[in-house]
Amino acid sequence: MPDRDHDILIVGGGVIGLCCGWYLSQAGRTVTILDRDPLRRESCSDENAGMVVPSHFIPLAAPGVISQGLKWMLNPKSPFYLRPRFDPALWSWCWKFFRHANAQHVNDTKQLLADISLESRRLFLELADELKFDLATRGLMMLCRTEAGLEDEAKVAAMAKEVGVEAELCDAARVCELDPNVQMDVAGAVWFAQDCHLDPLDFLNALRDGIRAKGGRFIDDECTGFERQGNRLTGIHTADGETHTAEHLIVAVGAWTPELARELDLRIPMQGGKGYSLTLRNPAELPRLCSLLKEARVAVTPMGGKLRVGGTMEICGTDLSINRTRLQGIIEGFCQFFPAFSPDDFTGIEPWSGLRPCTPDGLPCIGPIPGLQNATVATGHNMLGLSLGPVTGQLVTTLITNGKPDPNVEMPKLAPGRF
Ligand SMILES: Cc1cc2nc3c(=O)[nH]c(=O)nc-3n(C[C@H](O)[C@H](O)[C@H](O)COP(=O)(O)OP(=O)(O)OC[C@H]3O[C@@H](n4cnc5c(N)ncnc54)[C@H](O)[C@@H]3O)c2cc1C
Repeated sequence: MPDRDHDILIVGGGVIGLCCGWYLSQAGRTVTILDRDPLRRESCSDENAGMVVPSHFIPLAAPGVISQGLKWMLNPKSPFYLRPRFDPALWSWCWKFFRHANAQHVNDTKQLLADISLESRRLFLELADELKFDLATRGLMMLCRTEAGLEDEAKVAAMAKEVGVEAELCDAARVCELDPNVQMDVAGAVWFAQDCHLDPLDFLNALRDGIRAKGGRFIDDECTGFERQGNRLTGIHTADGETHTAEHLIVAVGAWTPELARELDLRIPMQGGKGYSLTLRNPAELPRLCSLLKEARVAVTPMGGKLRVGGTMEICGTDLSINRTRLQGIIEGFCQFFPAFSPDDFTGIEPWSGLRPCTPDGLPCIGPIPGLQNATVATGHNMLGLSLGPVTGQLVTTLITNGKPDPNVEMPKLAPGRF
């Protein structure tokens, strides 16, 4: 593009920006990724739980979530918190979430989520081969300590089979057989054999190297605004005082989307859903499989010789500060399920926090920015940004290179202007 600074300019270098960059590079486009955070302190992608989860076909906005959330609000160690504050954007988000948290919404979206997740998993297998990072394909166990929890998950397993996701209901003996290396205090589990896990940082580094090898560039700077003429974006302003031009812009700034999207006359209701992780370098035991701990809402992932334990969902705007009481809740929940560990094992471990980009219907926003011919948004992946990264990169690439969406995916349900 001789008269433009960039062919494709992607704002945001988290997993979504990088996956878009990779697939566009593969399609022969020249990619520049602009991110304001060279030290990677704010991205949600670097130290998450590393799970690739077709098993997560139920969106965050689902029946029962609100009543459970209200109960948890009273417990400072619980896995959920919404900080009440005077903020019309928060109230509007809550109202929209309330309207989507029902069985009809789950029925309308579960097949779409399962289909794109399974496609993303297929792409992960290809990527692991091509970009050379470790991907464990042994599945995930949804571990339950109580019979009531197991009954709940048995219903999810039945739904999983309906949407084409493999699920096996396991008693405690079967759980031991699947993961004999660790002691687990559980009543049983559902084993989702297609789920996978990886070290997210290895994946991000592999994507960066792959993009560079295809001629892509990275710029450390903050996008602060835009210039447009009619239906074309003609300039991208940065904090360093630069104005960039690009043939096509992609906005992939995760939890920070609302401010930037507003500059482009697009309203995307979003809240940061803060979560934490702690990584044990020398764990007392190392499970073979990754797991989710049903009653504690904690994620546990082996990564090489390390073990990562993460959780909580604090609806908090874009505040990344660490709440030590809630961290303690994660640690205690984990130790109840894995009795070989004690809270002391976590002494001195530096916690990581990240902001899940949460939309009120629990679905991502992927598509053209209304009113602009050369701008696309890819954000709002909630708890699934890593899982859905590759498929998002491909959907965006199809949109930009073919000028129309993938006909096999119900893209209107993901349209950025749907709210
Ligand atoms: C504890 C925890 C565990 C999780 N586990 C999993 C899991 O196992 N599997 C899974 O699929 N998902 C998981 N997630 C969710 C997943 O991490 C997110 O969905 C995903 O990282 C979002 O990626 P993103 O690229 O949209 O945003 P981010 O990774 O947050 O990237 C956005 C980037 O935009 C940059 N940026 C923002 N504004 C600007 C600007 N104006 N100019 C330039 N740059 C800007 C930021 O610096 C940042 O680097 C987890 C999340 C948490 C918190």
